[in-house]
Amino acid sequence: MDSQNLFAQAQKVIPGGVNSPVRAFRAVGGTPIFIREATGARVVDTDGNEYIDYVASWGPMILGHSHPEVVAAIRDAAGRGTSYGAPTALEIGMAERLVSAFPSIEMVRMMSSGTEATMTAIRLARGWTGREKIVKFTGCYHGHADSLLVKAGSGVATLGIPGSPGVPRALAELTIPLPFNDAEQVRSAVARHGEEIACIIVEPVAGNMGVVPPRPGFLETLREVTRASGALLIFDEVITGFRLAYGGWQTLTGIVPDLTCLGKIIGGGLPVGALGGRREIMEHLAPTGPVYQAGTLSGNPLAMSAGITTLDILRGKSYRDIERRAADLCAGFLDRFRKKGLSVRINRVGSMFTLFFTADEVVDFDSASRSDTAMFASFFRGMLAAGINLAPAQFEADFVSFAHTDEEIARTVDACAKALKTL
Ligand SMILES: *Cc1c(COP(=O)(O)O)cnc(C)c1O
Repeated sequence: MDSQNLFAQAQKVIPGGVNSPVRAFRAVGGTPIFIREATGARVVDTDGNEYIDYVASWGPMILGHSHPEVVAAIRDAAGRGTSYGAPTALEIGMAERLVSAFPSIEMVRMMSSGTEATMTAIRLARGWTGREKIVKFTGCYHGHADSLLVKAGSGVATLGIPGSPGVPRALAELTIPLPFNDAEQVRSAVARHGEEIACIIVEPVAGNMGVVPPRPGFLETLREVTRASGALLIFDEVITGFRLAYGGWQTLTGIVPDLTCLGKIIGGGLPVGALGGRREIMEHLAPTGPVYQAGTLSGNPLAMSAGITTLDILRGKSYRDIERRAADLCAGFLDRFRKKGLSVRINRVGSMFTLFFTADEVVDFDSASRSDTAMFASFFRGMLAAGINLAPAQFEADFVSFAHTDEEIARTVDACAKALKTL
């Protein structure tokens, strides 16, 4: 059945026809493609059209879709039962891998989504410090828990929602949003509210206002002021964890946060989240400590099997390979846009990138939001028609996986030339 019929049917029983807002194509128009199957770097829709995929399930599919070893691990685990509500050896295997990959992580609690990880991180920071205010950055997205849905990126930015109805004002008032990459504003906010701030949470490389790298010194300032004021520094590495290196941004840079949120890649395509950090802070969680957190499906054996297998395969990979392919792709895009006489900006960090329809440097949410979103939408539709599945909104990241071949990268650049003819 074709996507158009399915979308009509879906809208009768699912709000907007989707189970996560950005999938609805609101920002780009048209009907979302309903996926029938996916292998390697390709997805196939229900109409039988094949696309080279850069959405990668919004980040998790770094090995490509249906990786045979990951699929075998899930099948194998499912044959032994899908959930027990009791501990398993698999959970230790996952925790040990995360502890050894992240210098800042001594203990880990597994969960079922990135949202749970950030929500728990905030609660733990508040419980640990006895303070209530939190600092986040405009355009960073940390899942959809109440305290974090303030000036958030991703779908919230795409739909232009300033905050969300349903978030109590009392909670929103405890969140201090600051511009990303502005160390001075962080210093003055901490000077003003220092004694009340429980934590600063940040995507060390922003991915949810489109890709925006941290300026040199920005994350170092966050580390310095939190240490001095007694607040916790939380790195939300839900996207960047195992995306830019085996480990996280902290592994590459040596900037050590107090708590780290993980998700996406560590579940190998199954629902997952994790919170890690120093032993003394992590032991403040129940049952050793008073801060409550729980989950019926936490540490689920299918998710652990898919995640462990993914991590073990990544361990043997060279991240330079995907970085080079992403660099080739971005260089190809820039060349085609230049030939067309259009100025665009591409922000790329490793294998994640965003093509912004603006002539100016993109360093924060303000500069990202000066992009021409109508032009983005038109480009997106042209690419889709040419067989390329990009993230369907300007304020998102695209991902190159280990399954993308040089031939697929070249085909994507050719498709770009084609899409530009219709722009
Ligand atoms: C996706 C994402 C989350 C939320 O994870 P879910 O599994 O969707 O709840 C949190 N933080 C960042 C940086 C993300 O990209």
